[in-house]
Amino acid sequence: MRRKLVVGNWKMNGSRPANAELLSALRAGRPYAASVAVCVPFVYLSETAATLAGSDIQWGAQDVSAHEQGAYTGEVSVAMLAEAGCRYTLVGHSERRALHAESDLLVAQKAQIALSRGITPIVCVGETLAERQAGQTEAVVKRQLSAVIHQLAHCAAEMVVAYEPVWAIGTGLTATPEQAQAVHAVLRAQLQAATGHGQAMTILYGGSVKPDNAATLFAQADIDGGLIGGASLKASDFIAICRAVH
Ligand code: PEP
Repeated sequence: MRRKLVVGNWKMNGSRPANAELLSALRAGRPYAASVAVCVPFVYLSETAATLAGSDIQWGAQDVSAHEQGAYTGEVSVAMLAEAGCRYTLVGHSERRALHAESDLLVAQKAQIALSRGITPIVCVGETLAERQAGQTEAVVKRQLSAVIHQLAHCAAEMVVAYEPVWAIGTGLTATPEQAQAVHAVLRAQLQAATGHGQAMTILYGGSVKPDNAATLFAQADIDGGLIGGASLKASDFIAICRAVH
């Protein structure tokens, strides 16, 4: 039985009062059939940990440095994330790849350093609209995932993968359940071939998931939950999405 997981990605949003309200509502909404986590801005990790302590809701970061420590101004190390009690970190979100020029190799190195401290990397892969229209979806996501599989070697089965078509993130456009399932099946086959454990690995879908489309997406055979951006900022929407996983 694969672990079902719903993860909120707050991106660069939040404030102390708003976070407290959102996290308290999320706590009060338990129990959820799926595992639930929130990936928050670094400065909010401590208060998130304090608010969620003693609950089964977990927290994580949205990025991690590929370096252990040292002269990397503005970066946050995996040791710091571990100290903050992070269970997860996103790596390779399309906004990092596009806006911060993160390469497949850098993303893979970030996934590796996360795992070295027992933090599960949620590795984001996905094609742009131009790549989809050029018929390159499969090649792109396989290339992105392959870099991470290669870097993690025998630990590759420990990552979580998130398929996030770039054209569906924050746009209101969602992949149809069939489009998403088709890519998830490709990714699972790749993971199975590389690790022998692909059938047991968790693959999330992300891209404009909302309460009204979550259940159909999550009902697909190879979709094990979601990575939720905008809708994770509104307690009632995020709770409804968490409840759409059975
Ligand atoms: C995301 O940021 O990972 C994401 C999927 O965003 P949204 O749900 O807003 O499309």
